[in-house]
Amino acid sequence: MNTTPDTFDVAIIGGGAAGLAAAQALGRSRRSVVVIDAGEPRNAPAEGVHNFLTRDGLPPRELLALGRAEAGGYGVEFRDARATATRRDDAGFGIELEGGRWLAARRIILASGVSDQLPEVAGLAAYWGKNALHCPYCHGWEVRDRDIAVLDSPFAVHQALMFRQLSDRVTLFTAPGREFDPLEREKLEARGIGIMAQEIIAVRGNETHLTHLAFRDGGEQAVDALVVMPRFTAGIAALAGVGLQATAHPSGIGTHVAADETGKTEIPGLWAAGNTRDPMAQVMMAAADGLRVGAMVNADLIQEETDAAVAALRARAVV
Ligand SMILES: Cc1cc2nc3c(=O)[nH]c(=O)nc-3n(C[C@H](O)[C@H](O)[C@H](O)COP(=O)(O)OP(=O)(O)OC[C@H]3O[C@@H](n4cnc5c(N)ncnc54)[C@H](O)[C@@H]3O)c2cc1C
Repeated sequence: MNTTPDTFDVAIIGGGAAGLAAAQALGRSRRSVVVIDAGEPRNAPAEGVHNFLTRDGLPPRELLALGRAEAGGYGVEFRDARATATRRDDAGFGIELEGGRWLAARRIILASGVSDQLPEVAGLAAYWGKNALHCPYCHGWEVRDRDIAVLDSPFAVHQALMFRQLSDRVTLFTAPGREFDPLEREKLEARGIGIMAQEIIAVRGNETHLTHLAFRDGGEQAVDALVVMPRFTAGIAALAGVGLQATAHPSGIGTHVAADETGKTEIPGLWAAGNTRDPMAQVMMAAADGLRVGAMVNADLIQEETDAAVAALRARAVV
């Protein structure tokens, strides 16, 4: 439990679904916990969270406000700030918040998620999470039976086949001269997915939705949605001080923090949960991962405390 103010059993960097679920598990285990959160969950641009059982369609920030209220009920503390640096000290870790204040914690759970680096298409960012999409489980239902364009990338054939489940009007747009693997071309043809040799260089639309693609040759085409594949980057800059490095995710989709199945990283005392270690995890998976990692960190602390108690008992017996 707390020994001095601003000293915690566990500091959780990131207050999204993963961080809050870890906080709740630890708070209910009577651990002192602080959640440090910059307040920019990855899905913030989206209108609602889909495929979260019992909360389908709830705005992302509302879901997190509910999570904060629940975790706060078990004594979890919150700091609305970005963690900017970390260091090791005798008690465990020091964590610096923007503004220069330091906190101390015996363990850190890194749940800071990933950021999405969008392909270079002018105007795209304004529609990201609205009808510029990447994930059929997040927003596929919302564009069912619509004209869906897929921007070429190493994942485009996979994405086109996934979105074909939702609409029979799917077209993959690619730069002229792009060679397809014959098997991939056959799959697209068999599922009635068109291939257009047109390079998308920009999009335009109204205040809320993308309506048109603009091509390098000056042409335009109306669409209802554009599927793209961003590059995912794990946000770990604040952990450089304790030696954490991001590694390439095996899918080729970007970077993540490598951890074992319990969330333990290669840095003793530092654990990772949610998108930080699995960039493909949906909100419910991130929350489940946070719960598991929170429980594992509690078990790790119990072991440390039990070992210390046993050593003290033996020392008393010797005297
Ligand atoms: C556009 C879009 C729409 C999506 N829609 C859905 C959907 O409908 N359903 C679904 O299941 N999934 C959806 N997802 C996936 C969903 O965003 C992730 O599954 C989820 O956000 C992962 O939760 P997390 O807690 O790991 O990370 P996040 O939710 O990203 O939370 C990480 C938190 O850490 C904070 N942070 C980062 N760095 C620091 C730092 N240094 N110090 C302090 N805080 C920091 C961030 O500000 C953020 O608040 C969508 C993704 C995108 C991109």
